[in-house]
Amino acid sequence: MRCKIISICLPKGGVGKTTTAVNLAASLAVAEKKTLLVDTDPFGASAMSLGFTPERIKAGISEVFNFTHSLDHAIHKTELEYLDFVPSNVNSIQRDDRFSKIAENRVVLKNALRGVHEVYDYIIIDCPPLMRGIVQNALTASTSVLMPVRCGHFALEAIAKLFKYVDYIKEIANPSLFIEGIVMTMYEANTKVTEISERELKLRYNKYLFKTTIPRNHMVTESTFYGKPVILYNVNSNVSMAYLELAYEIINKYREEKTAV
Ligand code: ADP
Ligand code: MG
Repeated sequence: MRCKIISICLPKGGVGKTTTAVNLAASLAVAEKKTLLVDTDPFGASAMSLGFTPERIKAGISEVFNFTHSLDHAIHKTELEYLDFVPSNVNSIQRDDRFSKIAENRVVLKNALRGVHEVYDYIIIDCPPLMRGIVQNALTASTSVLMPVRCGHFALEAIAKLFKYVDYIKEIANPSLFIEGIVMTMYEANTKVTEISERELKLRYNKYLFKTTIPRNHMVTESTFYGKPVILYNVNSNVSMAYLELAYEIINKYREEKTAV
């Protein structure tokens, strides 16, 4: 199978991007798909969710963008055999400044990933809530975009903006980019807020919605404290199951495409 590169993206903070990137990547790895998670958010939350303290990070996206190390050198092994990780270590103002300047060149990440394409089935990119620089790099390098939308967090405007931005990137840099889908996160059944969010999303974006929804569960925050994907913290929780289902929804889609060819 050709490597699929999926950017987890929405120009809004706190919607579940990092949680989805980490837990989808971990679920793909549990399904024995060789997966690389790349954190491009200078905030570096994916590292925390995987238990990487700054001392454990030997190189990261900062060196890749400075051209001081190849991506190979920034790849870290994780607790899961099939999951590797490139952390974001843009953790000073000077680095951030240089990083932003280099990220204006939209093909840096695409070129860096070229060297590891054959090694992975999936590359999952955790994006910051922006629509320029590093996100332009991520979308230029990607096969598709997955948008997490937090129920009750009015996100329709952010989705509409991102759809327009995807069209723009298709035009200028990556004609085959497509929307992988929209996944509802922090879903609470039988609440007014979820009901309204779901109705609005179905009205406008029905064909993009994943069947799987990700329930709200305190285990997500707890597992982050322990530096583990939720599947390694509590495999039986509804949220672990949901991320596995999301992974299988994606895997099956690509399997069907392959058999259709
Ligand atoms: P983003 O990367 O979009 O800013 P995060 O993934 O960091 O969003 O999530 C924002 C906050 O919501 C975090 O504190 C995270 O622990 C919490 N969170 C995310 N998903 C869930 C969930 N399914 N249930 C409960 N809390 C969640
Ligand atoms: Mg994040």
